[in-house]
Amino acid sequence: MTAPRDPEFDAVVVGAGFAGMYMLHRLRELGCSAVVLEAGHGVGGTWYWNRYPGARCDSESYYYSYSFSDELQQEWEWSERYPQQPEILRYLEHVADRFDLRRDIRLGRRVTEAAFDDDAGRWHVRTDGGERYTGRFLITAVGCLSTANVPRIPGLDAFDGRWFHTGNWPHDGVDFTGLRVGVIGTGSTGIQAIPVIAEQAAHLTVFQRTANYSVPARNGPMDPAFQREVKAGYAEIRRRQRESTNGHPFDVEPRSALSVPEDERRSRYEAAWRRGGLRFRATFADLLTSVEANATASDFIRAKIRETVRDPETAEKLVPHDHPFATKRPPIDTGYFETYNRPDVTLVDVRENPIVEITTSGVRTTSGTHPLDRLVFATGFDALTGPLLAMDVRGAGGRALRDAWSDGPRTYLGLQVPGFPNLFTITGPGSPSVLTNMPTSIEQHVDWIADCLAHLRENGLVRIEATEDAERAWGEHVQEAAQRTLLPMASTSWYLGANVPGKPRVFLPYAGGLAAYARRCAEVAAAGYAGFSLAPAPAAGR
Ligand code: NAP
Repeated sequence: MTAPRDPEFDAVVVGAGFAGMYMLHRLRELGCSAVVLEAGHGVGGTWYWNRYPGARCDSESYYYSYSFSDELQQEWEWSERYPQQPEILRYLEHVADRFDLRRDIRLGRRVTEAAFDDDAGRWHVRTDGGERYTGRFLITAVGCLSTANVPRIPGLDAFDGRWFHTGNWPHDGVDFTGLRVGVIGTGSTGIQAIPVIAEQAAHLTVFQRTANYSVPARNGPMDPAFQREVKAGYAEIRRRQRESTNGHPFDVEPRSALSVPEDERRSRYEAAWRRGGLRFRATFADLLTSVEANATASDFIRAKIRETVRDPETAEKLVPHDHPFATKRPPIDTGYFETYNRPDVTLVDVRENPIVEITTSGVRTTSGTHPLDRLVFATGFDALTGPLLAMDVRGAGGRALRDAWSDGPRTYLGLQVPGFPNLFTITGPGSPSVLTNMPTSIEQHVDWIADCLAHLRENGLVRIEATEDAERAWGEHVQEAAQRTLLPMASTSWYLGANVPGKPRVFLPYAGGLAAYARRCAEVAAAGYAGFSLAPAPAAGR
């Protein structure tokens, strides 16, 4: 009797969100056999897990979507300017059905280990249920923001109430009616959730460590005329997205904020504030490259916060001072600052009064105890590297990814890691990823990987691995690109890994812009995959 062999595929894909599903679609088009292993019990990735109150996308629905199928973008109708989590999840479920993806997706399988077998040139993958899969290529589509960061605050285990992390929200929802609720964190997630939780809770206490800039989203129902216009103009919209810095279809004003008279500058900011959304960043060309230019935008938002929040002491606590606007991912909101005018909402500045412990009945800071029935951690994620390092990934010679990245991630183009042959990391560290509209970056990566796999096959090659030299040069370029912007000025940013104690401080995403990045990837491919070593199958009998 021979032991049953592990199911074997051309590619094993980890994750069934935007990235994993499109990767599967492309692999099928290439005629490759593939399996997608997904930890959740449904498809959708980020949009499967993040079900917290107020969860919606900060990119507008018409372009936070796939572009690869014109039929799909023509037939799907978005209901709001910014889609809510359930609507995006419905969209992704529709994609899974429409392209018949589910038959190759295995749900409820969390990948715990992946090891490269040098002799066989195969990846062996193991899931938490002990299942094994084998693939010539391992492609991670694990998301950039999928490993929850729950701070280790003493006493959490003793808390008598229930607590939740926003990125792992109960599927049957949470009813806060009549309860005293605490929210820790005022990033994009907290800023979305706080106004909605405040509507329901008897009392809400917000624990803020870093005051944040936020611009109104100005959400509303999708205008049918606008939707028709978008559908007629999708080819151009998608072209603009791909040729932009951040994957958004809008133009950045080419002038400096400092080149226009004060009253014009102000009226431009006012117009951008009224229009709302992430586009505020595009009001002037140099908001992320000149401290002085940025100060004009930062000051404008600070004034708006002071105008909105009636209690001057609370307003001052909400005014950001320690980083320039948009050097941390800028949130957009619906009634966030207005929420602090409610009599049943309290703001606690935990820089001034740090959290000491969680007690059985609440959160104790240096200034006293805040009694709570429920506690919400909107404390973010171990971004970019966290989801990859949560798996025990071992490359050639058994080298652990954790060891290879002990001083921070090392990648070539954010796509590959030297010493880890045939492993591709979709939107990995060192790619534009989180600095862009994710579906646009995902499609660029998936298309590049698919083209690369086709190239290997056409040329009788079975192995691809980034070289050390290419990785080193790319790593230096990623850091230089960040230094050309103001982004590293936000010293507490998750872009730098600063939100997770002990995480190496390295600027994680590539700040050189999506269009420039995609050009570079295309040049690398056109040059026969420069910076990668490619190898054929060993001759028979060897
Ligand atoms: P985040 O930006 O990392 O914010 C976490 C918040 O928790 C920060 O205010 C942080 O304070 C605070 N915090 C962390 N640890 C703490 C501690 N020990 N004590 C007190 N406060 C603590 O996380 P996020 O809000 O979940 O957002 C992460 C990213 O997800 C966003 O930047 C965005 O890219 C994405 N996102 C996207 C959308 C969307 O468009 N659809 C919505 C939500 C999130 P510090 O600032 O001091 O570290």
